[in-house]
Amino acid sequence: MRDSIRKFLRQNTFVFFTVAAVALGVILGFALRPREMSLREIKYFSFPGELLMRMLQMLVLPLIVSSLVTGMSSLDSKASGKMGVRAVVYYIVTTFIAVFIGILIVVIIKPGRGNRDSPLSSSGNVELVQAADAFLDLIRNMFPPNLVEACFKQVRFPCVGDFSNSSESAIPANVTRLLLQNILETVEEIVPTAGSSSGVNALGLVVFSIKGQALSEFFDCLNKAIMRLVAVIIWYAPVGILFLIAGKIVEMKDLAEVGGQLGMYTISVIVGLLIHGLIVLPLLYFLFTRRNPYMFIGGLLQALITALGTSSSSATLPVTFRCLEENNGVDKRVTRFVLPVGATINMDGTALYEAVAAIFIAQVNDMDLNFGQILTISITATAASIGAAGIPQAGLVTMVIVLTSVGLPTEDITLIIAVDWFLDRLRTTTNVLGDSLGAGIVEHLSRKELQSKDVEVGNSITEE
Ligand code: ASP
Repeated sequence: MRDSIRKFLRQNTFVFFTVAAVALGVILGFALRPREMSLREIKYFSFPGELLMRMLQMLVLPLIVSSLVTGMSSLDSKASGKMGVRAVVYYIVTTFIAVFIGILIVVIIKPGRGNRDSPLSSSGNVELVQAADAFLDLIRNMFPPNLVEACFKQVRFPCVGDFSNSSESAIPANVTRLLLQNILETVEEIVPTAGSSSGVNALGLVVFSIKGQALSEFFDCLNKAIMRLVAVIIWYAPVGILFLIAGKIVEMKDLAEVGGQLGMYTISVIVGLLIHGLIVLPLLYFLFTRRNPYMFIGGLLQALITALGTSSSSATLPVTFRCLEENNGVDKRVTRFVLPVGATINMDGTALYEAVAAIFIAQVNDMDLNFGQILTISITATAASIGAAGIPQAGLVTMVIVLTSVGLPTEDITLIIAVDWFLDRLRTTTNVLGDSLGAGIVEHLSRKELQSKDVEVGNSITEE
């Protein structure tokens, strides 16, 4: 008994440290708020947190490239095709379920029904066309003209980046400026887009088909080296998370602003995320695998807290890999294959939040949505979550697609900005949870292919 307690404590040391860091960060943040620090002071204060973000971001690109290439090259095209289809079906179904839960909750709670009289902005064909343009842009981005450039270029925000320069912009200039100032400035990280993921996937297939043994060994070594670095960074993570959270609380606007409708909106998103993350996804995992989902989630705690601290599923990716492979024993061929794609396109939390936010804005504007409009919101919220990059507050930007699709005023995004930094952390945690449970389900469903491949190639990867 004592041995098993000791083993549990040893295995979870970092989780304890990280949970303690979150609590300390909250306490420290609130203790420092009365000092009213200047922006410069807050920047200095948050520096240890900024370092953690940079360390994680530094690893993301080589990790994605090496994982996808080794993941793809260790599977034959039939096995990877089947696994890919399972993963995509899981992503789409769970994202729609998340949107459905969000819609149900916001329609029941009605956080936006109140006394704000705001005239509806005109809707019509122009806006619908622009929403369609933004949607096409998402698909266009999946086929980068230049693979290397796609891997290294800065994140592109579909629609805002494209339309803010265009004379026929659906987004008022002040909103574009506000979004650009408040959000884009803070998220200038280099993260691969969905385009680079699909491009790198193709590279992996080619490495497999030409039996590029040396090349695949190179990427395999790169992958192992990165995972060793992740083990080192995890030591530093509690310190970084403490300062990231404390810094954000010090910077936060007055809490009085978050009363009334905005408070109810926040509660609606939280309730939706809790139902999806703690009931629906675990239930799905159980139905498919017949294993205890909460044990599985226990192994993911480090990744979930890192997501909470960083608001970025891409930056959390190295820790997610580690938790799934080391704590939950998920086959590396599966994690390498599905996680990089999942972190870019599977965002249940973001989809749920986009649907709730859009309907909240409709309620605030006293606009009654019909069934067709709600359906449009669910489809565009799904598309917008797929298009959002795994970086802080990307979902707030892609929400323009959802609002324009039903003719809602895009400037009303400003109504929810005050609480977005907080909701972003929670939806990112749900996104990481969805990706991870998905990897567990795909592994279970693919065990036949994985076993036959074990026999064929002696399973070099799983024996590492
Ligand atoms: N921050 C989220 C993520 O990285 C994306 C979003 O803004 O919803 O997963």
